[in-house]
Amino acid sequence: MIFPFIALFWTSVHVVHAWPAKIPIQSYTMPGDREQGVIAAFNFTVERHNNNRMNPFKFAYRNRDMRTSPSDTWGVTKKICDDLEHGFMMMVAGETNRLHTAFLGIADHLEIPFVNWDLSPLLPQEVASSNMEVSVRPPTAELLADLIIYKRWNYVIYMYDGKNSAQNVQQIYTFIQEKSNLSVRAELVRIPRDASELGDFLRDFNLHRFLSNEPKRIIIDVQTSYRQQQFLAAIRTAQFNQHHYHYVVANFDFSPYDIEVFQNGNTNITGFQLLSRERGEYAALKRYVESQKFYASMDKNIDIESRLAFVHDAVLVAKAAFEQTLRKNDSLFHQNFRHGDLFNRGYPGIYCYPKQDTKYEDRPFGTFEHGRAIVKALHSIQLDEKDGTLTGNIEFDRVGLRKNFEVTVVDLVSNSKSAFNKKEIMEWKHSVGFIANRTIAQHTRKQLGDVVSKKIVKVATVLVEPFVMIKRGCETSNSSECQGNERFEGYCIDLLKLLSDRIEDFEYEIFLSAGNKYGVKQPDGSWDGLIGYLLNGGADVVVASLTINQDRERVVDFSKPFMTTGISIMIKKPDKQEFSVFSFMQPLSTEIWMYIIFAYVGVSVVIFLVSRFSPYEWRVEEMANGGFTISNDFSVYNCLWFTLAAFMQQGTDILPRSISGRIASSAWWFFTMIIVSSYTANLAAFLTLEKMQAPIESVEDLAKQTKIKYGIQGGGSTSQFFKYSSVQIYQRMWRYMESQVPTVFTSTYAEGIERVRNHKGRYAFLLEATANEYANTRKPCDTMKVGANLNSVGYGVATPFGSEYKDHINLAILALQERGELKKLENKWWYDRGQCDQGITDGSSASLNLSKVAGIFYILMGGMISSMIAALCEFLYRSRIEARKGRINNMQNLRDSLYQQLRLSFQGGAIAKEGSQAHEALKRQKASSLLPAQYSDPITSEEFMGSTKSAGFPGRYNTAV
Ligand code: GLU
Repeated sequence: MIFPFIALFWTSVHVVHAWPAKIPIQSYTMPGDREQGVIAAFNFTVERHNNNRMNPFKFAYRNRDMRTSPSDTWGVTKKICDDLEHGFMMMVAGETNRLHTAFLGIADHLEIPFVNWDLSPLLPQEVASSNMEVSVRPPTAELLADLIIYKRWNYVIYMYDGKNSAQNVQQIYTFIQEKSNLSVRAELVRIPRDASELGDFLRDFNLHRFLSNEPKRIIIDVQTSYRQQQFLAAIRTAQFNQHHYHYVVANFDFSPYDIEVFQNGNTNITGFQLLSRERGEYAALKRYVESQKFYASMDKNIDIESRLAFVHDAVLVAKAAFEQTLRKNDSLFHQNFRHGDLFNRGYPGIYCYPKQDTKYEDRPFGTFEHGRAIVKALHSIQLDEKDGTLTGNIEFDRVGLRKNFEVTVVDLVSNSKSAFNKKEIMEWKHSVGFIANRTIAQHTRKQLGDVVSKKIVKVATVLVEPFVMIKRGCETSNSSECQGNERFEGYCIDLLKLLSDRIEDFEYEIFLSAGNKYGVKQPDGSWDGLIGYLLNGGADVVVASLTINQDRERVVDFSKPFMTTGISIMIKKPDKQEFSVFSFMQPLSTEIWMYIIFAYVGVSVVIFLVSRFSPYEWRVEEMANGGFTISNDFSVYNCLWFTLAAFMQQGTDILPRSISGRIASSAWWFFTMIIVSSYTANLAAFLTLEKMQAPIESVEDLAKQTKIKYGIQGGGSTSQFFKYSSVQIYQRMWRYMESQVPTVFTSTYAEGIERVRNHKGRYAFLLEATANEYANTRKPCDTMKVGANLNSVGYGVATPFGSEYKDHINLAILALQERGELKKLENKWWYDRGQCDQGITDGSSASLNLSKVAGIFYILMGGMISSMIAALCEFLYRSRIEARKGRINNMQNLRDSLYQQLRLSFQGGAIAKEGSQAHEALKRQKASSLLPAQYSDPITSEEFMGSTKSAGFPGRYNTAV
């Protein structure tokens, strides 16, 4: 593996290719290190070293990613021993907790140099004289002690999540005692592990100490930069007045981003910086680490952690130590590399314990032969930025801790009585303290100052109809009417105008929330959207359809509600029922109509048959000529007529006399009575109501079906309502909505409403009733609100805690409400501008119009026309019969007959003169007047009209019964 070559002489540090062998070093990483880029940082630095041809030697670098529990000291020891058997000359690890004992144990007993890129948890007095360890991360105790003395604090709270905090506090004490006569009390508080608990933890903390008005100075000592970011986010969004607090971030991860964010807020905070971020080496490291995919997935906001810089510098320290060792004796390692193995004291590998070996039977137990020499070199190295370090000057003291390093201390102080925030940048040097003439103080104007003269209030809002809309024509135009606040219109814009009229010096500037977001709490405790703007000072006031809820009320102030509403359901209007001209048929189904026709024919046949068989229906009649006829009224034709008359609720002059006939008729009458009354009852409902059968009528309907999908707007109070509801049905709905692919969540109301309109009734949208009702009054008028509201919420104007506008806004809103101004505004934006006829009602109308009943007129007309046609047929038929009666079957006769019939029809009557044929016929009829009229022989028109050609043979003219 590694072969020593001919020894060359070290004459200067810059010997090129002086020693081409590879020096084996071994690093150890813990769970989580890979994800945080530690291994990447190692690889980067070792590769950079190995690729530099100016370097006199190369590293053979190996890493072992320990997957052990944090307390498995024995397991770790065993693994290191295994690695040692293959041989390495230095180990590099970052360990501050329990496993440190394992590393230090091996380092001390086998004299293996150990570079800890973190900070050794041992107190200086604990460190044995044979100390083989150096720590690249500098200790903070002295710096913190100097800061406490500088600020003259006599009570501090030390919040920590690591193991060695007690030692650190103890060291701070020692330094304070050494340097001053200040008496300081300290309290240790453990920070919860779970990031989501940080907000509650801070709140509880504040609550418990609320009574003591004593200023609270909190030193935050968290182990990783990621945890620190979470904690700082929790501080930024902490829901209490933090004027009495001063935070100190005790590791070296206070980034420029943090400074910027806190500078604009009103929190007192001090942080330390050690990293030289401007250096090209830093940029290259950052690029490399970010290019590794595990790191790229992390939050981009998090600047590269200082621990990566320590890892980087640990490799430089190792390199410097070997250079230093070889500089003294360049052939020192010549005996150590044979046959690709590392030989120690003449035997291959380094063993933690005496080993029985066939080849080397009497192998004695021995420490690493060059360990002490290398550690000596480690303690004497002196590196600075010129050597490529990222954490400044690197020198180690007797116990292996950094000395002579410099730290930049950034102190952000916000005085509640001043209009300015103060930012002080101080330089601090180890064993020297704050360097007096290198402090730079800057004053920045506060975001919300009491003393600040007239300022423009920044109002954040979101676009939602009809609350805030872009004026028509201003979407793309940049004309002067579309500049600034003039670009917007809507209920909230009018409300803002009213508020500014009532509040003195309330000049405002409206801007829209990025992504049209209202604001929800993020997993790290921060807020996005409108609430986020209020918390980070981006906005002074929020005037929007912003729902007041508990979560938000904890972080910002809300005015009294200016409007109340609730979550409601919007669906697409179902299509109106189609009415045809034969709608009057609809009360009974086609099937029933068919059965009625069959029943009608059937009943007629039955009546015909029973009448035929029943003797009571037969009558004997004497005829005028003395004969007798036996007749039955119920011919097929008459039966049909009788049954039809009964169905139409009319009477006829024939009625059954037999019991059988009467039974059949009664049954039919009963049947028709029920059918007709049912028809009548249904008819009213069918003809007068344009019923719109909505498929969904309540939230329960919606929840229990899956045909119609439903969704909500994400990132607002509605989604919070469903997410945290304890009501089973809403929980079920939330689970359903979450599980849908493609998603049923929309980013704006407009998108949701569009979806309702375009999905042909297959999508319902849950939104606040205000926006729902507005949309229903807009063209194309195809949406409607169904069911009752799911909850009741209010919209309020939000301001950050401690805002000077809060009380003014509250009073103004109450006044506007009392005077009815808010109601007027509501009418203006909701009802006066409605574009749909039926407004927001469900569109039912009670009038009966022609289109629905035109059919009966058609039937009437049809009846009349057919009766006229029938009359014509009868007329022609009769004329022909009459003509035949004349026995002269020629055209002349037919024409005469027609003519006479026509005359009678037009004249409407005629006089029978004495001696005429008609007169004779009438006389005959009179003679037979004993007979019932209809059975007598009526006179024919021909006879009556006195036709000379008539044979005087009386025929039956009237055939009707
Ligand atoms: N008004 C809601 C809010 O303040 C936004 C809309 C919604 O969530 O339905 O978050």
